[in-house]
Amino acid sequence: MSKIILTGDRPTGKLHIGHYVGSLRRRVELQNSGEFDKIYIMIADAQALTDNAENPEKVRQNIVEVALDYLSAGLDPAKSTLFIQSMVPELTELTFYYMNLVTVSRVQRNPTIKSELQMRGFGDSIPVGFFTYPISQAADITAFKATVVPAGEDQMPMVEQTQEIVHKFNSVYGETLVEPKILLPENQSCLRLPGTDGKAKMSKSLGNCIYLSDEPDVVKTKVMSMYTDPNHINVSDPGQVEGNTVFTYLDAFSKPGHFERYNIGYANLDEMKDHYKRGGLGDVKCKKFLINVLEEELAPIRERRHAWEKDIPGVYEILRKGSEEAERVAAETLSDVRKAMKINYFEDGALITEQAEKYR
Ligand code: ATP
Ligand code: MG
Repeated sequence: MSKIILTGDRPTGKLHIGHYVGSLRRRVELQNSGEFDKIYIMIADAQALTDNAENPEKVRQNIVEVALDYLSAGLDPAKSTLFIQSMVPELTELTFYYMNLVTVSRVQRNPTIKSELQMRGFGDSIPVGFFTYPISQAADITAFKATVVPAGEDQMPMVEQTQEIVHKFNSVYGETLVEPKILLPENQSCLRLPGTDGKAKMSKSLGNCIYLSDEPDVVKTKVMSMYTDPNHINVSDPGQVEGNTVFTYLDAFSKPGHFERYNIGYANLDEMKDHYKRGGLGDVKCKKFLINVLEEELAPIRERRHAWEKDIPGVYEILRKGSEEAERVAAETLSDVRKAMKINYFEDGALITEQAEKYR
């Protein structure tokens, strides 16, 4: 069986380091591993509109921002197909058919939906489109016969929902769709990177992000004001590393070489954590180290972005070509789906003869 990746992001803002460690970094590695037959990376504008219906300009402006982040992080249009969701209308049709295979109570039980509804404060005014986005995600994934979805932990319920739809569809209409698996980050701290304010998730909607495109002085300011251990007041006080955002980010980004290069006085992160826990290691020293660590990863990304920013028409051209290719592939799956569901009337010679017989 082919090995195929589908994953993506909502164009609701620029991408941040949570996206990077949760999914983007992995996609680039998988792309360059050469182990996959096809890689589709989708800018989910239709999904972004489910909770931004009244703000289409935001979605429209952020398409190119996300594309720039992709290209600067190392996604290569020669190896990965970058496309825009709404440019592939087949996905909407698939969603409509899949909706019949899912119950309202099943979506209500989806923990990510539950917390997102609460976070957005919809109250009694939940847009139906937002409520059903897990089903549209199943359409996105299955349209490309994806086997692997590299994503952060919040996407687990979405991939589970997709697996259920695939089972249900195949058992009702016959073997047609391919079941995907989620590929979570191996590093625990990358499953759901917290925001700079220490809140559970770095998220565009919460405004607690370090963006991939932030300039060095912005990264520095954000790190220096980051949440640490509120009880670690004097340098000599013992400190906590659990729930301490600076250490979580170091877990996500630091590599053995960093400790030597920046001569911080510890052989590795465990030694550094031990000193912090014992007392005697100040937050400022930890934050300065983190700034260096982040800068090593972000500087080349920022540089590539500045280069791509000079060729915006070229970026749109990549998306146009990618969207055309994605549409061809999705159209094939849709044709299989229509056939399996017996709604391919004009192509079904047997149906026409059978009914002609009936009236003869
Ligand atoms: P929004 O607030 O608009 O939902 P978001 O910041 O949650 O935006 P998405 O576009 O919903 O970003 O998520 C895109 C991908 O990035 C998903 O695979 C998701 O799991 C991953 N991701 C987003 N935030 C984080 C995070 N803080 N830690 C790890 N992965 C993340
Ligand atoms: Mg999200």
